[in-house]
Amino acid sequence: MSQQPKKGTWTKCPQCGAHVNQLEWGQYEQCPHCGYYLRLSAVKRIEIVCDANSFEPTVKIPTSKNGLNIPGYSEKLVASQQKSGLNEAILAGQAEINQIPVMIGVMDSHFMMGTLNTIVGKVIREMYLIAARKQLPLVLFIASGGARMQEGIFSLLQMNTVLAAKRKFDQTEQVAISVLTDPTMGGVSASFAFKNDIVVAEKNAQIGFAGQRVIKATSTQPLPKEFQKAEDLLSHGLVDGVLDRQDMKTYLGTILKLHQRSK
Ligand SMILES: [Zn+2]
Repeated sequence: MSQQPKKGTWTKCPQCGAHVNQLEWGQYEQCPHCGYYLRLSAVKRIEIVCDANSFEPTVKIPTSKNGLNIPGYSEKLVASQQKSGLNEAILAGQAEINQIPVMIGVMDSHFMMGTLNTIVGKVIREMYLIAARKQLPLVLFIASGGARMQEGIFSLLQMNTVLAAKRKFDQTEQVAISVLTDPTMGGVSASFAFKNDIVVAEKNAQIGFAGQRVIKATSTQPLPKEFQKAEDLLSHGLVDGVLDRQDMKTYLGTILKLHQRSK
């Protein structure tokens, strides 16, 4: 029986421009014409990576405040909460991947481009500390435009305080894995994104510090086609692997199993 697609369920592929029906994007949200991956929500990412119904959001995500009284920020926070269904740009807790218990955090680019602010920093710190206390491995999916401008220096401060919490985790013998997804930019790429034991990237993800427009304007040089792409980082030895979204769970499961500690 052919399925008649409803109106409004077509999305234009940002890479090849084809109009793709919601059903055709599928569980992995991949363009059937060119293979492009749409940016996943934290909830969907957890669904495709963790064992069914194993995720428990054990890390509390408080609501952010407009501490610096930046005009429009409070409204932006509310709009992002409504758009993403999340309290902040991250979801974190305990789950199982191939029956192995793990601490997992997933940043969500649908919430103010996954920017790092006071709460996101606090959540990632807690992830490291809880994982250290419970002797759990840790998986962190990154999707971030960098530090959140509306929280100024308090956002930048998170780059350091997260790394301080990570040092506590480093005293355990557990493995920590970063998965860099589209985009991984700015202060996040300059801080904890690259600090875990294993750093892999999702195919075609943009990963870098400054954006391409800024680099182009300052260097006045044409940029290579693959500039800041996951595959380019791999060829320069900056990541340990580039993965298809479909292979992510199997890969993580294998790495976690290889690093399992006998109790
Ligand atoms: Zn496409």
